[in-house]
Amino acid sequence: TTELTRPGHTRAITVSNQKGGVGKTTSTVNLSAALADQGFNVLVIDIDPQGNASTALGVEHSADTDSVYDVLIEDFALADVVTDCPDIPRLQVVPATIHLAGAEIELVSLVAREQRLARALAEYHRYREENGLQRLDFVFIDCPPSLGLLTVNAFVAAQEVLIPIQCEYYALEGLSQLLNNIGMIQKHLNPPLKVSTILLTMYDGRTNLASQVAGEVREHFPDSVLKSVIPRSVRISEAPSYQQTVITYDRSSTGALAYLEAAAELVQRS
Ligand code: ADP
Ligand code: MG
Repeated sequence: TTELTRPGHTRAITVSNQKGGVGKTTSTVNLSAALADQGFNVLVIDIDPQGNASTALGVEHSADTDSVYDVLIEDFALADVVTDCPDIPRLQVVPATIHLAGAEIELVSLVAREQRLARALAEYHRYREENGLQRLDFVFIDCPPSLGLLTVNAFVAAQEVLIPIQCEYYALEGLSQLLNNIGMIQKHLNPPLKVSTILLTMYDGRTNLASQVAGEVREHFPDSVLKSVIPRSVRISEAPSYQQTVITYDRSSTGALAYLEAAAELVQRS
């Protein structure tokens, strides 16, 4: 066991890739659970209308739940919609409900449409300080599979982007579009933003293709790809149906160990 070293500031990390099904939500909830398990204070903001992160973390997100929608559109404070993950101490969640599906369009006509989440998060940091709550160590924002205004809000609210990449044939396709968008955000809205971390997911060590893709990604992004790789694992895919992360569902499984290792690496790379 290693001594807990808190980051010197809150690390706000947006988990993004405009492709669906690459492991954004799975990586968000399991890295968050692993970090909370190691003693860090973690907030997960679910900004995907599908609400999969809310489901996996076992928090209420029916249509009448106060959610990130109310923060973005109705000017609620984050403090009013944050809820505790029932099974994991130190892990809190801002849930997403079905209402968020309309937010992409409703945001268009609002002032500061790109900065709404960033402002709410800054205000929430102040709220915690004023109320004697410990500083958050990590904020993870789980994005929808698109590059619309919800994802823009996530980019503006973070300093880091974590891109999960599935080790399959089309892995790198579309990535240049994502990187261009991030470049645009850096230029116009959030200069400190950087792609700090790339995580290889659903790795199947039995295929040549997976190792070939992994090699290619490492060659393109030598400084950002984590050494830890997330294997394809039945336990990882089963956990959400029990409203669990794999860390709580089967702690000694290869999937859980891989996420614990990736989380430790993330901490060291601060
Ligand atoms: P995204 O959020 O990018 O759309 P998800 O995290 O929801 O992707 O993952 C897509 C699907 O793949 C889900 O059904 C999830 O349970 C499954 N999955 C993700 N990572 C793994 C893994 N390492 N092993 C097996 N299944 C996985
Ligand atoms: Mg998702």
